[in-house]
Amino acid sequence: MARKEENMGCVLCEHCTAECCRYVALPLETPTSKRDFDDIRWYLMHENITVFVEDRAWYVQFRTRCRNLQSDFRCGVYETRPAICREYKAENCDYVGGDYGYKQLFTEPDQIGKFAEEYFAKKRAAARTRKAAGAGRKLARSGSRKKLMRGKSVKKLARGSVKRKAG
Ligand code: SF4
Ligand code: SF4
Repeated sequence: MARKEENMGCVLCEHCTAECCRYVALPLETPTSKRDFDDIRWYLMHENITVFVEDRAWYVQFRTRCRNLQSDFRCGVYETRPAICREYKAENCDYVGGDYGYKQLFTEPDQIGKFAEEYFAKKRAAARTRKAAGAGRKLARSGSRKKLMRGKSVKKLARGSVKRKAG
């Protein structure tokens, strides 16, 4: 990656200080519990750590320069660089990305705390809506049963009346 245009088909790398060689990002399990969010809050208490969400996937990112990045921003092990570096393309890279297309970006512990509060508030609201919808369906079903029962008793009454008339 860093400043090797033949792999990138462009000259972008000539204007970049090898942004792509200055971090490691690892996937995280999507947080769903208070403990998950609290763990992320702990990650963010550390220096040079950010957490981001991209295409609905969560990542923890460590801001750390690759040891092979040379002072001219070229790769010092270009011929034997890892597969992840070979696969990386400049077309949509960190330099081009601008805001990187993050759905969410957390740089401070308080940010994830606030996000978690909103996440659980939405979850509670959705649970209340589901409960109300369930209660509505139950009421509708019991209403139909009552109608059926009323229908049945009217028929019984009608048959009874006929019998009495005949006797
Ligand atoms: S971030 Fe993009 S432009 Fe910069 S070195 Fe890496 S691939 Fe090239
Ligand atoms: S191995 Fe080379 S291309 Fe890969 S991150 Fe390090 S300096 Fe960049």
